[in-house]
Amino acid sequence: MSPDAVRAAELLHDARHLVVFTGSGMSQESGVPTFRDEETGLWARFDPEELATPEAFRRHPGRVFAWYLWRWRAIRDALPHAGYRALVELEDRFDRLTIVTQNVDGLHARAGSAAVIELHGSLVAFRCLDAGHPYDARRLEELRHAGAEEIEPPRCDRCGSPVRPGVVWFGEPLPWEQLEAARAEVDACDALLVVGTTALVYPAADLAWVGVTRGIPVIEINPQPTPLSSHVALAWRAGAGVALPELASALQASLPAT
Ligand SMILES: [Zn+2]
Repeated sequence: MSPDAVRAAELLHDARHLVVFTGSGMSQESGVPTFRDEETGLWARFDPEELATPEAFRRHPGRVFAWYLWRWRAIRDALPHAGYRALVELEDRFDRLTIVTQNVDGLHARAGSAAVIELHGSLVAFRCLDAGHPYDARRLEELRHAGAEEIEPPRCDRCGSPVRPGVVWFGEPLPWEQLEAARAEVDACDALLVVGTTALVYPAADLAWVGVTRGIPVIEINPQPTPLSSHVALAWRAGAGVALPELASALQASLPAT
């Protein structure tokens, strides 16, 4: 067992309520292309920041929808890695374990995590543009031409408005309820795990700093140093797929406080 795993288990030994904050590094290890490195193939010449906006969707609905359909298929093909499963296991070790994620791929839920707050929405939950009526993603299977550059979005059965992905676009506010719920969790928890996020994207990244400011144990799991690294109790330089299973074993070996 690595010294980092032992140290992390010590830091979490007495915790009853754990919040795990996850970002793109977590997904990337499962083969989900991140926003920055998906400039490959057909979409190489488009700037993601120019596709992921309400204006882009209104101007070029077919192009934006085709891009999201492509990303949606990439997510479906990805499998949650061992780190996701370790987080599910850890639910037994704490009275309360909540995951707060910046990811939109739904992998935590697919792995079986019970409490997940999605700060940036979900790419597996589609809805109509004007009224937010939900649209069953299974119906997207009917859309062929996965590699096409233009796919006209289907229309909402109830109001006829085009169907859009349930993600938060640039220029849109984060969902208020999720943000409040996440803040309440971080205010009340007694330990925080920050996994695969650079802690740079505000306001979501504020949550990591709340943990630091509150003086609770904050553990960072990230192969790269981040602005948070020098402020945390432990900066564990490893991928989530390796570190989280190690952490689960280390915690299993140390009985919880009674
Ligand atoms: Zn509608």
